[in-house]
Amino acid sequence: MLEPLRRLVQDVSTAENLEEALPLVVHQVRGALDVDACSVFLRDDGSGEMVLMATEGLPPGCEGRVRLAPGEGLVGFVAERKEPVNLENAGAHPRYLPCPQACEERFHGFLGVPIVHYREVLGVLAAQQRGHRLFNPSEAAFMVAVAAQLAGAIRSARSTGGIARVGVGTSFVQGVAGAPGVAIGTITVSHPLARLSDVPDRPAKDPHAEAELFLSAVERVQDELRSLGDRMSTLLPREERSLFDVFALLLDSKQLVQPTVRRIRAGSWAPAAWRDTVMEHVRAFEQMNDEYLRTRASDLRDIGRRVLVALQSEAREPRRYPEHCVLAGEEITAADLAEVPAGQLAGVLCSRGSVLSHTAILARALGVPAVMGLGDLPIGRIDGAPVVVDGYQGRVYVRPHRRVVVEFERLLRDEEVLAAGLRELRDLPARTPDGHSVELQVNTGLVADIQLGLESGAEGVGLYRTEFPYMIRHAFPSEEELFRNYRHVLAALAPKPVVMRTLDVGGDKTLPYFAIEEDNPFLGWRGIRITLDQPEIFHTQLRAMLRANISFGNLQVLLPMVSHVREVDEAIGVIDRTVAELRDEGRAVTRPPVGVMVEVPAAALQTAALARRADFLSIGTNDLIQYLLAVDRNNARVAALYDGLHPAVLQTVNWVVQEGHRTGTRVGVCGEMAGDPASALLLLGMGVDSMSMAASSLPRVKWVVRSFTRDHARDLLQEALGLEEAFAVRLLLHAALKDAGLGNLIRPLKSAA
Ligand code: PEP
Ligand code: MG
Repeated sequence: MLEPLRRLVQDVSTAENLEEALPLVVHQVRGALDVDACSVFLRDDGSGEMVLMATEGLPPGCEGRVRLAPGEGLVGFVAERKEPVNLENAGAHPRYLPCPQACEERFHGFLGVPIVHYREVLGVLAAQQRGHRLFNPSEAAFMVAVAAQLAGAIRSARSTGGIARVGVGTSFVQGVAGAPGVAIGTITVSHPLARLSDVPDRPAKDPHAEAELFLSAVERVQDELRSLGDRMSTLLPREERSLFDVFALLLDSKQLVQPTVRRIRAGSWAPAAWRDTVMEHVRAFEQMNDEYLRTRASDLRDIGRRVLVALQSEAREPRRYPEHCVLAGEEITAADLAEVPAGQLAGVLCSRGSVLSHTAILARALGVPAVMGLGDLPIGRIDGAPVVVDGYQGRVYVRPHRRVVVEFERLLRDEEVLAAGLRELRDLPARTPDGHSVELQVNTGLVADIQLGLESGAEGVGLYRTEFPYMIRHAFPSEEELFRNYRHVLAALAPKPVVMRTLDVGGDKTLPYFAIEEDNPFLGWRGIRITLDQPEIFHTQLRAMLRANISFGNLQVLLPMVSHVREVDEAIGVIDRTVAELRDEGRAVTRPPVGVMVEVPAAALQTAALARRADFLSIGTNDLIQYLLAVDRNNARVAALYDGLHPAVLQTVNWVVQEGHRTGTRVGVCGEMAGDPASALLLLGMGVDSMSMAASSLPRVKWVVRSFTRDHARDLLQEALGLEEAFAVRLLLHAALKDAGLGNLIRPLKSAA
């Protein structure tokens, strides 16, 4: 069954849309299992009915018309059980209810498999046989594999309005929250579109000029291929070089160029016309039984990509951006963001990346919501679509239902009112009604953020992520470059403290010029592990920090990703030696306070040992949560399991705070948890000395601090520590916020879906 499955997977992935894919699926399954009928039912979001979407074997014209109530018949039974149902004689089953429209009484053998995506039943794939037939285990396994393949495609089509006949619009694509906020706008797919499947449909403004553009791109690629072939002549044996000739020949062929030009003349812009021609041929090649010819399909894709890249570089015409532009792409660069005219950028969607990628950092600095890691978003089919972006929950609603838009419009209005109210808190102290102060600071990573931080009323920078200047360069920055950057930041904040974290690359933060290939990067060479192994990087950065601090004296140094106490000893050794070295050079440097990040469970358990070595501790809850719960913080698939209110997280954070204080060391929190009003209430109860967060979160947290006495927060903490599930903690905290009149701090105010 492997070969039919492989073909089917290809069909689903290369089909233009789901309505094209489903008939292919039922056709192939029917052939592979040699059954009399194969059908796909999909659940209607609105009514919950199972709608027949595609069939081969049931009477023609049933599609879209056969609708089964929830739980009705064997299809309903399969959906209810969420497990395959395999019956030799369907008629003998108590749930059997033949659908007269579909003439089902003619069938006896039945194999129904649920189409499930992350626990949600999206539909049912059913095979039916006229005679009695019990399907064997490998046939059942085949159907399960097909259903799994379909599930991903259906989910993404549903979330983008791709299934016109089934009620849609309240579904969302889950990504990873990259920058907070809510946006309602129109999607613009950004360049470059390196993948054919991502090219959006668009009309040609001037078909004649567009065709010329296409032909000259083809010519350029032909030249490029020839010269590649020549260049390889000394390196590759003759047979392998012939690949380049095959490519050039394929491009010469009338089958590729002429149909594309026809499509352009019919009104399509060149990239989409080219995409359609290439994909048509790719599909034809992939259907072939001959192995050699099938591999030609990948050659075709390669050519397709080359011409596309050539087209893009020829056609860099200025783009028009909608008024509330939500920029979407596989990757979005700083230049892409810069191209959107001021005031028009409403949000950012990225199919790759994480909360730490440049795009997310920039979006936060620009104050626009961003959702990252949207692998399920079919970028090529959503250009110009209306969209709602929920940057708090990392959700995207493409072509949203009116109900969703209304809900988010209300949310936006509430946010504006709230922001206006919170501005008044700016100059008031972060002190509880019973007189306990908590230092509220901001996390920044860009020089541009600093102003936002100052405007929010922050008492300093609790975490300056130093990675960004490294990420945007083509080589490691020099001591002078870093010095200028750090001096700027320290000067802007002085005399308020600035906690600068030493370089924390690795994990998902890679540098283009410092490749690290690892199977498990989050458990690999990261943060202090790199800087201790590469002392020249560490030394340069420390020299720049210490020199920048000479005139201001407000620097504090923070060590990331510590998992062994000896790492702290070694790092402090390097810092002390660097201080001595600079003094020897006659520079008046001072030894800054050195803190340790507690973001690995082992570090949390060794709090006392770390506290003895450090001047302060800073809990990095973003990583601590991921390592404690074994949940990748950037994986949208497990985003629902990543929860800062998990009792194990609360107990660990509380342990670190109490242990730190027992040894007389200040303890702060600099992960996102500090910026969430509900979690901040618990941190207040724990007695943390400082909380550092995104500037936009600071006024909300200040409001919490000013509204709850320490004793009240402590009582809530004790109650929360006795609970076993995160949702119970959340209910407790939300009730407390509401009782205190802070109900509108609960984000999102209400889930629209
Ligand atoms: C953290 O892990 O909580 C943290 C603040 O660091 P980063 O998010 O940069 O990993
Ligand atoms: Mg971290």
